[in-house]
Amino acid sequence: MKIQSIRGFRDILPPQSGIFASFEAKAREVFARYGYSEIRVPTVEMKELFVKSTGETTDIVEKEMYAFEDAGGRHLALRPEGTPGVVRAYIENNLHAQDPRRKFFYVGSMFRAERPQAGRYREFEQIGMEYFGNAHPAADAESIALLASVLSAAGLTDFRADINSLGCAQCRPVYRQNLIAFLNSRKDALCENCKKRIETNPMRALDCKTDGPELFRTAPAQEFCPGCAEHFAAVQSLLKETGTPFEVNRAVVRGLDYYSRTVFEFRSSAIGAQDAIAGGGRYDALVGSMGGPQVPAIGWALGADRVVSLLEKNAAPQSGPGVFVVSMEEATHRTAFRLLAQLRAAGVCADGGAFAQSMKAQLRAADRCGAKFAVIIGGDEMQKRAAALKNLQTGEQKEIPFDDLPSILKK
Ligand SMILES: [Zn+2]
Ligand SMILES: [Zn+2]
Repeated sequence: MKIQSIRGFRDILPPQSGIFASFEAKAREVFARYGYSEIRVPTVEMKELFVKSTGETTDIVEKEMYAFEDAGGRHLALRPEGTPGVVRAYIENNLHAQDPRRKFFYVGSMFRAERPQAGRYREFEQIGMEYFGNAHPAADAESIALLASVLSAAGLTDFRADINSLGCAQCRPVYRQNLIAFLNSRKDALCENCKKRIETNPMRALDCKTDGPELFRTAPAQEFCPGCAEHFAAVQSLLKETGTPFEVNRAVVRGLDYYSRTVFEFRSSAIGAQDAIAGGGRYDALVGSMGGPQVPAIGWALGADRVVSLLEKNAAPQSGPGVFVVSMEEATHRTAFRLLAQLRAAGVCADGGAFAQSMKAQLRAADRCGAKFAVIIGGDEMQKRAAALKNLQTGEQKEIPFDDLPSILKK
């Protein structure tokens, strides 16, 4: 039997892995600047966590969740998104005890058992944040500005933020009833999915790829209670203060049950208007409904795979090590290996040790890995306690005493 990776799962290989790492490093810098700390929560949770928080009637839970029973008969799931685990951790660890206002970011894999297609994987990488304990529109504006900062820091310029409000527990049910009545009145024209979800999740019809655009033109507009209207106006005015470009887009409804008030999605024309590269929103009732205190919150997640695929197009080729140490014969291997260790200890990016190969083959390896210099040690050099330093670009060669090599190469 040939063991292969599972369909929908893939290896992230160099140089792509390097682009992931540098994107994540830049995101971490931005999170630190905004006062967020990293949180790491388990990949596997009780299935019930996602059913209760993400929502029973969402596509994620209904169709896409990697759920299974473990040997102890417990119903578990691989996390399909980051928010539920962070909310559970916030409650379980009493992170609200000293001050409910806490700010977290996370970086990691999420899992969805959707049909594999080009550019979509069953294990995918997300970077996200959750901001607990601030009901003020400043938290909404900060979250959206933070997302824009992360994308800008990564080098993306070609993105835009679409924001919307879904209303709250007072005004949303009224709209929901109006929307249900409207959808029922034109039920025959809807796709099978939307027909089924009229009663359970009518907002999703506005988000439907088939029916959404038409419904969006004709469906009744949402009317907000005074509190929601004021909140949304304040989010926009504060967001302007951050210099983040955005547009109000009523079609942004998000697919999850827990959102209230502000929701947003970021798109890049380089990827296409259909798919958001990031999205999020306010979820003021979720912490309370999961058994925690009534703490408002807001968060977002971005698809790192998509951002990396955009960055890949303009990525500079990865640079090789500065130096490759070549040893000519058995008698010089130990000295060469010691020099390699000394160079690394001095902070020089050095490779080598391919002593099973001939000197010629070692020099070819130095070229292939992109090294700038080769340090060549043979019997003659040993006697002089010096090595030949060869510039692999120009072919120029000099003799340098062993002791001077680390300091010279560090430059
Ligand atoms: Zn409201
Ligand atoms: Zn539909």
